[in-house]
Amino acid sequence: MNHSQTQLTFRKTAACPASSTLLAYRMEKLSRKLVATVKKHLAVCEFCNAELPLLAHHTPVRRRPRAPEIPIDLRILAESLLFQK
Ligand SMILES: [Zn+2]
Repeated sequence: MNHSQTQLTFRKTAACPASSTLLAYRMEKLSRKLVATVKKHLAVCEFCNAELPLLAHHTPVRRRPRAPEIPIDLRILAESLLFQK
C-alpha cells in the first residue's frame, strides 16, 4: 500500500503569493484588495503561514535610512521634552 499520496504536501503551490508579496503584506504595503487575497490564501496555506514569520528576519535594508527608527509617539514625547520651556 502506498500512503504517500494521502500525505499533505508542505511546499509552495502555484496559488502561493511570491515571498516579496508576503513581505509586503507583512510590512502592510499591499493594497486592501491584495491584503484580502493574501489573507484568504493564508487561511488555507500552511506553508505561507510558516513562511510569514520567517520573513521578519529577512527585512530588506536597501531603502532603510541608517538612523534607527523611533516610534512617532516616542519622538513627539522626546521633542516635547527637549523643547520644553
Ligand atoms: Zn501558500
